[in-house]
Amino acid sequence: TATDWTNIARELAPVDVIEEPVLVKKRSRDFFWYSPILNGQLKKCFGDLVAQPKTREELAHCLSVAFAHDVPVVLRGGGTGNYGQAVPLQGGLIVETTGMNRILEIGDGFVRVEAGALMSDINAALKPQGWEMAMFPSTQDIATIGGFVAGGSAGIGSIANGALREKGNIIQLKALSVEADPQERVFDAEDALQVHHAWGLNGAITEVTLRTVPTRDWVGCMATFDSYRDCYAAGYALACSDSIGRKLCSSVEAPIVDYFPRLKGHLRDGKHLLVALVPAEDMPAYRDLIAAQGGVVDLAMTDAEREAVGIPHVFEFAYNHTTLQVLKADRSATYQQIGVPDPSDADSVAAMGVRQGDDLWQHHEFARLNGTVVAFELPIIWFTSEERLREIDATYEAGGFPVYDAHTYHVEGGGLKNTDYRHLAWKKRMDPKGLLNPGKSRAWEAVQHLSPEDIEAKAMVQYKD
Ligand code: FAD
Repeated sequence: TATDWTNIARELAPVDVIEEPVLVKKRSRDFFWYSPILNGQLKKCFGDLVAQPKTREELAHCLSVAFAHDVPVVLRGGGTGNYGQAVPLQGGLIVETTGMNRILEIGDGFVRVEAGALMSDINAALKPQGWEMAMFPSTQDIATIGGFVAGGSAGIGSIANGALREKGNIIQLKALSVEADPQERVFDAEDALQVHHAWGLNGAITEVTLRTVPTRDWVGCMATFDSYRDCYAAGYALACSDSIGRKLCSSVEAPIVDYFPRLKGHLRDGKHLLVALVPAEDMPAYRDLIAAQGGVVDLAMTDAEREAVGIPHVFEFAYNHTTLQVLKADRSATYQQIGVPDPSDADSVAAMGVRQGDDLWQHHEFARLNGTVVAFELPIIWFTSEERLREIDATYEAGGFPVYDAHTYHVEGGGLKNTDYRHLAWKKRMDPKGLLNPGKSRAWEAVQHLSPEDIEAKAMVQYKD
């Protein structure tokens, strides 16, 4: 029988709802269109109704109504994910969390907030008290903390403070189960990983407590180089430096820089770009490092100076914002996510760029994983066919560069290449009917009939090494 959405909308009261089809469609999308492959698969997937809870009680009511009617539920923050994480594959209720946005507590080295708080608001509240988020994505103005913890992995700050999943970065998550009477569970420290990066499949996150770090007087820096090899090598040197603080370090090949019109006149033309955020007191050491690596510092500005000149944040030329700058001009571009096997080997990084050909332009991000500097590549790829994209993947793989496919909407694709049975056991506990974000986990279909304990037993086998 067809679902009676008018009736569900009525039952959701007093929660605000959006029924207007155009507006529901708008909230059924995220940034999956970066991928022509995902665009083809997801552009016609829409939800049926949007609910906008303002409190945990309202959110619990939404989940309980969905449970009673057996309808799919997709949590949505800012809708800035790149893999269609927030796209309702099978229709249903979209629960937009941005009304649950209170900052609950700021303490020494932590912040506790509601899941729908925007990260730029959190950073703005932290700064006057001497703190900042340990990491955040460049989408902080529209992305929520709940969406980051449920769908993201690392960001600006990760070069100093590691990935989200590293010990101490997520201090606590609270999440509601999808049941007749939704229960709030508290996940402390390591246990939070059962909800982190689960794409909203393992419960509705209500509250997030994250590590914060002392804020510094950050200077946005742009240095240019004659060769991409030298630009990358300087990035690696900066990333490894013990004497220079930094929370961003990204190298961008020259042709991509041409797509940054707002930097025209501020940078030397036709050069490769190293983007960085460096504390004011470390600027002399940063300038020495760039000179020693054969580069020129074209721009170094505090936020106030930058605003006076009308240039965006330097991080809008890093991470996936780099891709966005190109896409704004030409929708035939796309990207991929590649690991670098030996980040210190600038020669093989540059050689791989040459081997790939003219339809690929290089861009690397440096981060720190478990204390070790790593590099990953987010190249611009001029898309012609899926066949060519997969040929590019194969060339990387053959050279020992692992590909974390950005063109899949399954949680087991991309960064998490393997089925995570511990995640799935928690899914069974938090969402026994499998209503949350259905279709996003390939592995769920195979285990959904099992008890959480039996699913966990598979995890024991999986992790025994
Ligand atoms: P949404 O897209 O709304 O949701 C993401 C996922 O989380 C979905 O599966 C959704 O169902 C789930 N979810 C949302 N809220 C909840 C909740 N309360 N409970 C349970 N599940 C929930 N990501 C990075 O990690 N690092 C980056 O540096 C980065 N840079 C980016 C740059 C650009 C230009 C773009 C377009 C994207 C980038 N991203 C990055 C991806 C994305 O912006 C971030 O992960 C962002 O934090 C997602 O937040 P959101 O509120 O938009 O989440």
